[in-house]
Amino acid sequence: MAAAAISNRQLFIDGEWRKPILGKRIPVINPATEESIGDIPAATAEDVELAVEAARRALTRNKGKDWSRAPGAVRAKYLRAIAAKITEKKSDLAKLESLDCGKPLDEAAWDMDDVAGCFEYYADLAEALDGKQRSQVSLPMETFKCHILREPIGVVGLITPWYLSELLDTFSLVFDSHAWLMTLGIATTVGNFCMLMSFWFTTFSHKLGVACANWNYPLLMAAWKVAPALAAGCTAILKPSELSSMTCLELAAVCEEVGIPAGVLNVLTGLGPEAGAPLASHPHVDKIAFTGSTDTGRKIMTAAAQVVKPVTLELGGKSPIIVFDDVEIDKAFANIFWLNGDCWIISNKKLLNGHFLGAFGQMVRSAVQHLAFWCIIDACCLKLYMPRPFQDPIKDSDSTEENISGEFLRKLVIWAQNIKVSDPFEEGCRLGPVISEGQYEKIKKIISTAKSQGATILYGGGRPQHLGKGYFVEPTIITDVETSMQIWREEVFGPVLCVKTFKTEEEAIELANDTHYGLGGAVISKDPERCNRISEEIQAGIVWINCSQPCFCQAPWGGNKRSGFGRELGEWGLDNYLSIKQVTEYVSDDPWGWYQSPSKL
Ligand code: NAD
Repeated sequence: MAAAAISNRQLFIDGEWRKPILGKRIPVINPATEESIGDIPAATAEDVELAVEAARRALTRNKGKDWSRAPGAVRAKYLRAIAAKITEKKSDLAKLESLDCGKPLDEAAWDMDDVAGCFEYYADLAEALDGKQRSQVSLPMETFKCHILREPIGVVGLITPWYLSELLDTFSLVFDSHAWLMTLGIATTVGNFCMLMSFWFTTFSHKLGVACANWNYPLLMAAWKVAPALAAGCTAILKPSELSSMTCLELAAVCEEVGIPAGVLNVLTGLGPEAGAPLASHPHVDKIAFTGSTDTGRKIMTAAAQVVKPVTLELGGKSPIIVFDDVEIDKAFANIFWLNGDCWIISNKKLLNGHFLGAFGQMVRSAVQHLAFWCIIDACCLKLYMPRPFQDPIKDSDSTEENISGEFLRKLVIWAQNIKVSDPFEEGCRLGPVISEGQYEKIKKIISTAKSQGATILYGGGRPQHLGKGYFVEPTIITDVETSMQIWREEVFGPVLCVKTFKTEEEAIELANDTHYGLGGAVISKDPERCNRISEEIQAGIVWINCSQPCFCQAPWGGNKRSGFGRELGEWGLDNYLSIKQVTEYVSDDPWGWYQSPSKL
């Protein structure tokens, strides 16, 4: 799909491509080259008005029989047709996603499978909805009958980010080896670093036929909202991030091709304050589903409150991963090997001491590879210092704790060194650029602040020497981090890993919960009681046990505290777009009421 063709895209309103009323456009920059590759239309309040009117008409056209009151099976057909088209266009869509946001091409292609899977999943739920209508409610009086109608909530505004934080913001990795524990605070992230992570889980999940989570997947983020909204019978206005809108405009083209009724899905690209804000405050938009930063979420909630409009908010996060050194290494290997696994290995002291590399050969190396990938991938944010020469973190260290954590860090550094950072279209790319110059500068600043506050940049932190252009940042590992530091507490969105040690399970939990956020968390241990205990203790909407960050479109997704409220995905995702109506009927011939009929007086 040529970038030139993209430049011709307009806003998608009422089933037609329309120029923005004020004629504004926003340049699209390829983050790998810093070159302009086209532009997208910039909607303003005037266009929002048209899109809302179109969505309202589509909601009630033919008394709703064309869409909102049509059987779920009718809408399911459209959703399946969209899924099929996405699959057909997978290669072009993946290229576009890579061009637009810099993610490795292979991973962008997997995203498209997940997008199609999401539409198929909600097609099933749309069909199942028909069978759930008129479900009876048991009442204590036989003279009454009650049933429930599940109705579409109406016109919904769907506002999505460039970055899919899954959990992605900061992870604390707590690490226990008998008497000692080590916490790795990992700022997870955005950009492309995340893709590596998604590589493992995508591979795994495809074997099981499920969707998985990637980081920074603009079209998939949109699908998580569009698919359940349409399944429920809502009509929608999608406002993607101005930094990653191109594939969402192609979703509009797909809807046009499958003949979805005009106005059912409208796509408005544009800036947040100019297009997102008027959508959020519009009195004829019945609900806003938002994913993005906590700051923007707060503004949206304030705007929606003026007209008492419901919102669901998927906001930022800083999420802990707690790893204990009680897993059996053989078992851990097996799981790591078969599950394309993850971090279990890091909890094993012997491995940390390097004993298993010799004993298990390639398999172990593979496991270590996963470990390093996982940690780095979960890391977030970048830094803009020049990379420091590799330093041996265990040098001059006498204590056991330092030795073990040092060995662990050394492996992390080695694997960080091995990650291929390149143009996303280059064979074998595992880390592309961050999405924009603004994000690049932000990451630089956060890392430089951490350094000035006393943190140590153990590895990376700068632009890779072989890449003179593009918003590339090396994988970065930071130690000597204090919990008061910005880099520990705030989302960063770049390939930066912070490392911190601590001593007890209680302390680990305390650290894990010492955040305003509550999106996700993970515990890695073979002790089920400990896993359950910690999963109950972690204050978050998602907890993973013995894995990290798999995402299934069947399971609920969302956070607590300042990570937002409401749940996407699964049945909960559909409920977001349904209004529950009670219908109660009096079925007795006897009069019922407080006042006596005059005829009986
Ligand atoms: P952002 O908040 O800057 O923008 C998100 C969307 O809101 C964009 O479409 C933007 O144009 C729009 N917007 C901006 N100002 C607006 C306003 N005043 N009114 C209405 N809309 C407005 O976020 P971002 O930088 O695109 O994405 C990164 C953030 O998203 C991070 O905080 C990340 O944690 C969060 N996120 C959370 C989840 C989750 O699952 N909880 C998933 C992905 C991203």
